[in-house]
Amino acid sequence: MESIREIYKVGKGPSSSHTMGPRKAALEFLAKNEKAIKFKVTLFGSLALTGKGHLTDKAIEEVFKGKPIEIVWKPEETKEFHSNAMLFQAFGENDSMQADELVYSVGGGRIVNDSEKDKIQMESNLYPYRTMAGILDWSQQTGKSFWEYVFEVEGDDFEDFLTDIWSQMKQTILNGLENEGVLPGPLGLRRKASSYHVRSKTMGKHLQNNSLLFAYALATSEENACGGIVVTAPTCGSCGILPAVLLFLQKSYDFTDRKIIRALATAGLIGNLIKENASISGAEVGCQGEVGAACSMASAAAAQLVGGSTSQIEYAAEMGLEHHLGLTCDPIAGLVQAPCIERNAHGAVRAIDTASFAILSDGTHLVSFDETVEAMKQTGHDLPSLYKETSLGGLAKFSKRREGYM
Ligand code: SF4
Repeated sequence: MESIREIYKVGKGPSSSHTMGPRKAALEFLAKNEKAIKFKVTLFGSLALTGKGHLTDKAIEEVFKGKPIEIVWKPEETKEFHSNAMLFQAFGENDSMQADELVYSVGGGRIVNDSEKDKIQMESNLYPYRTMAGILDWSQQTGKSFWEYVFEVEGDDFEDFLTDIWSQMKQTILNGLENEGVLPGPLGLRRKASSYHVRSKTMGKHLQNNSLLFAYALATSEENACGGIVVTAPTCGSCGILPAVLLFLQKSYDFTDRKIIRALATAGLIGNLIKENASISGAEVGCQGEVGAACSMASAAAAQLVGGSTSQIEYAAEMGLEHHLGLTCDPIAGLVQAPCIERNAHGAVRAIDTASFAILSDGTHLVSFDETVEAMKQTGHDLPSLYKETSLGGLAKFSKRREGYM
């Protein structure tokens, strides 16, 4: 299992797999082929189907700016290793090809070169325990909690890393609460975070809590939709949930930044386990791997913050994922806007609900977190590709607003 630094990445939205990953791949390819005269990038499968809405072409063109580049879309061709594949080619004099590289964007902003794909499993062994069961056993033997396990594995400077991540998460929420207007793209959706935040101040306690969670989650997700700077948690599409839950709890109970950072460590561990044993890529397993994973992370973080035991935290994480099983990815017009933005707002409220439910229990429950992760993986593989970030099924197919835009 890799470092949690791979879960939390700071970068421009709107999509970790369709924007951040391709941008990173383009930067690396350009650095290796600076002398080439022109370039060609072919996008396959899901990257080609929803790449326009997710601004994949813009992200790549921005990197190559000033150099001739052709983008080719091949939605009908899907590579076996992962559906988010892109072929970079560099040309010299007389159109002679100087270099080519097939790269996959496998979720959460991570890229994998075709020639290295078999080595991934061998390299990712930073964490000695790769399942929740193993970590719970360790916890029972040592008396330590999840965040202590993360800090022990990640090393001394990890607290500083999480401090920066938390500070960017808060900044993104502030930006999103401040900015108003219409989101980019053809759907004509207005930003809601600012007005929800103002209205929350006039409401009774229960409605106010939900409204604040909505406002914070909307703020981050709307920033993401506008290509603003966000932190993947674990992806761009699902980046609104965890920061909203953490800020809401910090403001409600005066938690110190230190406590929030420990909760971030635990949330990162949960995201890492899901990524290791299933997937956090909407193109691979649908939205259960993005919003489901984010809700699971936030639920675990919330349970820890309010004093949950390790088994209660595990239960909270399990429920956050379990109740998103089967959730499809069907973004209208290929944009990370609808259903994505509202889904983050509801995911934040659900994370608080599942954490409360777990805290009321003694931590015992029927289905373990590891089993739910396995079920999510299988469900994702059984889902038809229509529902895995292709915008060919579900809401993307039936919403009238999509007409003329695909
Ligand atoms: S529907 Fe979910 S998985 Fe798909 S793009 Fe939106 S947030 Fe990501």
